[in-house]
Amino acid sequence: MKNSQDIINSYEKNVMNTYGRLPLALNKGENSRAEDADGKKYIDFGSGIGTNSLGFCDKDWVDAVCTQANKLQHTSNYYYNSPNAEFAELLCDKTGYKKAFFGNSGAEANECAIKLARKYSFDKYGKGRHNIITLENSFHGRTLATISATGQEVFHNYFFPFVEGFIYSKANDINDLKSKLDGSICAIMLEYIQGEGGVIALNQDFVNEVYRIAEENDILVIADEVQTGAGRTGKFLAGEYFSKKANITTMAKGIAGGLPIGVCLADEKCGEVLTKGTHASTFGGNPICCAGGVAVLKKVNNSFLKEVSKKAEYIRKRLLEIHEIECLSGMGLMIGITLKTKNSAEILSKALDNGLMVLTAKEKLRLLPPLTITYKDIDEGINILKTLLD
Ligand SMILES: *Cc1c(COP(=O)(O)O)cnc(C)c1O
Repeated sequence: MKNSQDIINSYEKNVMNTYGRLPLALNKGENSRAEDADGKKYIDFGSGIGTNSLGFCDKDWVDAVCTQANKLQHTSNYYYNSPNAEFAELLCDKTGYKKAFFGNSGAEANECAIKLARKYSFDKYGKGRHNIITLENSFHGRTLATISATGQEVFHNYFFPFVEGFIYSKANDINDLKSKLDGSICAIMLEYIQGEGGVIALNQDFVNEVYRIAEENDILVIADEVQTGAGRTGKFLAGEYFSKKANITTMAKGIAGGLPIGVCLADEKCGEVLTKGTHASTFGGNPICCAGGVAVLKKVNNSFLKEVSKKAEYIRKRLLEIHEIECLSGMGLMIGITLKTKNSAEILSKALDNGLMVLTAKEKLRLLPPLTITYKDIDEGINILKTLLD
């Protein structure tokens, strides 16, 4: 078996150097614990960027995925398959959406949302009403359209020309958004809590106004819940905190427990917009990924979500006992940590040395622990953080 250094060397030789990777090669895991290729053990406060929602190798999830892999791995979308049918039904039941489209990532889910919004408007109003307002400091993905949608200048480099038709507006500033309204807008796209942008939640007043303006002008609201969805915040969708349901909601990261899938959900108003031949994905709705998704949805019920909220309350209380921590942001188990004096990237690296995986978002530390994390592992992780911070 290869040790960590062999694995790292092999990447350096053969894999494009697009990530600022840390010197950790994971080998196996169980819920909120993992082990690297040299046998060193870790507590996981990152869950693969919120993707391993049930932690590493949840028993029921593994059974569901393996059972499906032993039956049928792919069919193409010329045919139907049962796990995709079941996943779609559970998703629509749980969220109240009318129709789902399945892709393979968050970016693809957002691509679908963008296409859907533009076609909705084209079908009703013809050409020219194609612009989408997105928020400054947002993050919507890495494909050309989704980096164009992303309201951060740092991403708008090298790959010119970018996709036209995105207008950036300040988050939580309704007057700025109003000043950008003209007859050309077909949708407003937002994250209820900007994840990559630094775990920053939108204000209720701003969200209320966005929905009011959208309703009044037949503009669709697209909620990018790729990071906030699937129980991360203690609600199945973060929109529930705002008592809002977007016309379109996209999900990915945690929705299938670590398998690649992206979902674009559309309501009654726009569920029938994408018609035969207008959108497609070869892998979309893959039965193994969907079996993983079904296992997640069966677990993430109301009592599970209550438990997520309880754990979130506990971990937040414990974090605030650390003097170096200035304040916390986000909701539920999506946690941004502002430090008083220390550098978050340095803490992240030291935490790893001490057996704790954490994340950063902009200048903050960011925690996205598995939703199934144990109290024991919360305590152990917090103790590591405490020794590094205080
Ligand atoms: C991660 C993320 C994406 C991109 O998802 P990929 O699966 O990497 O394409 C899009 N939107 C938000 C809010 C995200 O957090």
